[in-house]
Amino acid sequence: MTRKKPPFEPGCVPAPGGLLDWRDSQHYDHWQMRPCALCEQPTPMRSHSGEPSHKACAENWISEHPTEARLGRFASDVQPKRRRDDNHA
Ligand SMILES: [Zn+2]
Repeated sequence: MTRKKPPFEPGCVPAPGGLLDWRDSQHYDHWQMRPCALCEQPTPMRSHSGEPSHKACAENWISEHPTEARLGRFASDVQPKRRRDDNHA
């Protein structure tokens, strides 16, 4: 069996007040709107774990719950290395 998608791995949790980087298309559910877990308004946006949440709501939640946020409920996408050539690994 081949799965359609590889695991959707979260990257770093932004600092409180920071912005999430949700550029990956997997954050956008093309099939249905679901109530945001935070503001209860319909949203097509999903966290890495598939939790419906507006990006802005998630960012606000991180600001308001910095300790809990470190557990990784909402995280930015894994950043591909680019724009920097300092890869000495
Ligand atoms: Zn929301």
